[in-house]
This record gives sequence, C-alpha cells and structure tokens, in this order.
Amino acid sequence: MSLTFDNRVALVTGAGRGIGRAIAEKLGANGVTVICVSRSESSCGSAAEAINAAGGKAIACAVDVADGPAVAKLSEELITEFGNIDILVNNAGITKDNLLFRMTEEDWTDVIDTNLNSVFHFVKGLARPMTRKRWGRVINITSVSGIMGNAGQTNYAAAKAGMIGFTKSLAKELASRSVTVNAVAPGFIETDMTAKISEAALDMVLPQIPLKRMGQAADIANMVAYLASEEANYITGQTFTVDGGMTM
Ligand code: NDP
Repeated sequence: MSLTFDNRVALVTGAGRGIGRAIAEKLGANGVTVICVSRSESSCGSAAEAINAAGGKAIACAVDVADGPAVAKLSEELITEFGNIDILVNNAGITKDNLLFRMTEEDWTDVIDTNLNSVFHFVKGLARPMTRKRWGRVINITSVSGIMGNAGQTNYAAAKAGMIGFTKSLAKELASRSVTVNAVAPGFIETDMTAKISEAALDMVLPQIPLKRMGQAADIANMVAYLASEEANYITGQTFTVDGGMTM
C-alpha cells in the first residue's frame, strides 16, 4: 500500500540510531522533510546525511530531550524556520534497569525525564501550530513493558505506561482540531538497546514470542509511517503493539 504525505515536515526524537533512525529514513523515503533529533551531533547528523544522500530532505539537531528549556528553544527556532511541524514522533528513550530495592533515585529520575517528560516538552513546543493548521500527528513510542510490566524495569515501565495515558488524554484534547495522537508499543526489537540483553535472558524471552524471533526497527517504522500518513486520518488515542504476538 503506498502512503500519502502532503509536503509534511516531521520531527523524530532518537533518530540517530535504532528504531528512530528507521522511522526517520522511512518518512524521508516517502517525501517527508525530516528533522532528526538525538543527543549527539554525530548520530543525528549521520541519519540526516543518509536521508539526504538517498534523495530525501533532512536536517539534524542535537539536543537532550530531557532538557525542557533547550527543547522549548529548539521548538521555537524550528517553527520559525518551517512554519509548522506536522508530525512529531517521540521515540528517544533509555533504560536503566534494576530491581526496585537496588534502583537509585537518579536511575528513576533519568528514565522518567528522558522517556516521559521529554514527550511533555516536545508536545508543548510543537503541538499548538498543528491545532491552528487543523492537521497533525503525534506518535509516541512506548513499550510492551508499559502494558505488561517487567521485573527490573519499574522506572521504564512507569514511563512507558505514562506515555499511554498521556496519548489517550491528549488524543481527546486535540481531536476537535484533527490532530491525532497514537502510541506504538514495540516488543523485542534488534537495536543497541537490546544488544545488552544476555544470551541467557534472550533464551527465556524468545519462546514467549509466537513468531519466535526478535523484530527489526523497520517493523516499527512501517507502523509509524502508516499512522503518520493521510490514510490513518480516523485513528486516534490508540496503542498498537508490534511484538511478534507476545502480548496477545
Ligand atoms: P537505541 O538505544 O538504539 O537509540 C536511542 C536513541 O535515542 C539514540 O538516537 C539516542 O541518541 C536517543 N536518545 C537517548 N536519550 C536521549 C536524550 N536524553 N536526548 C536526545 N536523544 C536521546 O534505542 P531503540 O532504538 O532500541 O529504542 C527507541 C525507542 O523504542 C525507545 O523509546 C525505547 O524505549 C523504545 N523501545 C525499544 C524496544 C527495543 O526492543 N529496542 C522495545 C520497546 C520499546 P544518541 O544516538 O545521540 O545516543
């Protein structure tokens, strides 16, 4: 199915590597102008370069998504430059796993700040012009951990579950302006984030996935591209799991 995008501009956080990069490249290949955001200049820079080299249009912006004032400043600059950001993909995320009794307050706060508070900062910075234009997409990358819970991930699961509640509430607030807000919940996807999972842990996980394998970043990018397209006009407030059947 070919997807329709009408001269759209997208901002993808965490676009330097993994799932975010696959999303940025997929949107870029569909003619969307992409603003690639990540923490380090080199990673978002190489994502933007790859999109431009493939004939798309992209720029790179390095910012810490947890830094509210920095995100507000960047949002203002981008709105001045582009007039409007049509598609916001909140994908940047980190894990700092530990059992609760061993988790430090810093590991709790870092994960909530990077994975959840960042979503608040970017939506505050970019969503108002979408409502004026009467068209917009906010797509939040949550996780099956936010749906099922996962031992060792109280911080991460709390942030990801928070994103789902945020998604539903914002969808209700913005629906009358034709701005849709959805979430995508990946299962186990092969990226740098999951490269740190031990062989032994993977041996326990894989049997619980009906498709018996990990997913690829492109599997998530395909769902995000669909939700960002014109074809998804009537979908809002939903969370779509892309997990090889793990949570059915
Ligand atoms: P990666 O670790 O491969 O990439 C994370 C990206 O996020 C990087 O580009 C990184 O920037 C960026 N990032 C992290 N922290 C910040 C920050 N403070 N400010 C700006 N950018 C930041 O992760 P994945 O691709 O695996 O994960 C992407 C999203 O998908 C995350 O939200 C994750 O929770 C979620 N997810 C992933 C799953 C998986 O199995 N991989 C499963 C379920 C959900 P830089 O490149 O500069 O370091």
